[in-house]
Amino acid sequence: MSSHRGRIAGIITCIVLLVGFISLYSRRLDGIAFTEKFHVPREATPVSKIDLDGKLNFGARPAVQTRTSWNAPIMWELMFDGSLYDRKHKEADTAVALTVFAVGRYLEAYLNTFLTSAEKHFMLGLPVTYFVFTDLPEKVQNITLAPQRNIKVVKVEKYSRWQDISMMRMKTISEVIDAVLKYDFHYVFCFDVDQIFKARFGSEALGESVALLDAHYYKLPKHRFTYDRNPKSKACMTEGDYYYHAAIFGGTCEKVKALTDYCYVNIMEDKLNNVEALWHDESHLNKYFWLNKPTKLLSPEYCWDENIGDASDIQLRRLIWAPKDYEKLRTR
Ligand code: UDP
Ligand code: MN
Repeated sequence: MSSHRGRIAGIITCIVLLVGFISLYSRRLDGIAFTEKFHVPREATPVSKIDLDGKLNFGARPAVQTRTSWNAPIMWELMFDGSLYDRKHKEADTAVALTVFAVGRYLEAYLNTFLTSAEKHFMLGLPVTYFVFTDLPEKVQNITLAPQRNIKVVKVEKYSRWQDISMMRMKTISEVIDAVLKYDFHYVFCFDVDQIFKARFGSEALGESVALLDAHYYKLPKHRFTYDRNPKSKACMTEGDYYYHAAIFGGTCEKVKALTDYCYVNIMEDKLNNVEALWHDESHLNKYFWLNKPTKLLSPEYCWDENIGDASDIQLRRLIWAPKDYEKLRTR
């Protein structure tokens, strides 16, 4: 009886601590207009009816895997006709939101190149709004945007640890989906800022739930994947399908909201238990995609690291990693 009561008391303590932690980390978004009074969530049905993935040429790239065991396509150059996707999405009036964080020194180092290169290659011809999250909104430079393309700068607090800056993106993205994106956009794509677009990153990348194969791991055997293996962390996994790179993920607002909520809650639970997953938000994202299979995978052509010696599979570098300078750029 007393152990029963003890357990209930334990559970209550846990809940109280979790709520406390969550409120500690809940900092409000400035400059985001809450629109739910005026809008109803945007209907995703017409877009999800665009079924072009069935027409993909899965045999076009014999040297690489083009389909997962659960039949999700893995997008490689030569498998698709980009203009077909563009036409269908223009007809459906598909609207895309892109989220990117440029906090602290990352703003000056990367943001301008990221945005100007996105204007040359990201979803051209479709309405795109960039949501830039930064602690330094006044330092965001003006860039020339094509018609139907917008930028919204949202002020966020700067966490002192770089690990928290990275992880807490999950919370902010979830909030902005709820407050704004779900009313005005069919899809949301979330990017690291330390990258440069080099070639078409087009509407063929859109899908319900989209994950990216990490350029460093797509050819390695599974036992080399750097999943979190610590049983104390919620991100712990003993098996998986692929190693996904958290620098890009996307999908419908509903699916990305589910992903970010999952990662945020588990990050907070880890904090409560005094653990941190090996690769932070990326470890949780890998766990999420193991439990909730993505409907489309992007090949490393969509996020290539030029430092990798063997680029024999890479026919087109659509986006590349910008040079990293952790010593100078990270807060701690
Ligand atoms: N980030 C930021 N300021 C920081 C640390 C991280 O804005 O001080 C954001 C930025 O968008 C960055 C992302 O968080 O691209 C992930 O961090 P980083 O790119 O350093 O991680 P890595 O690519 O090494 O996994
Ligand atoms: Mn990065």
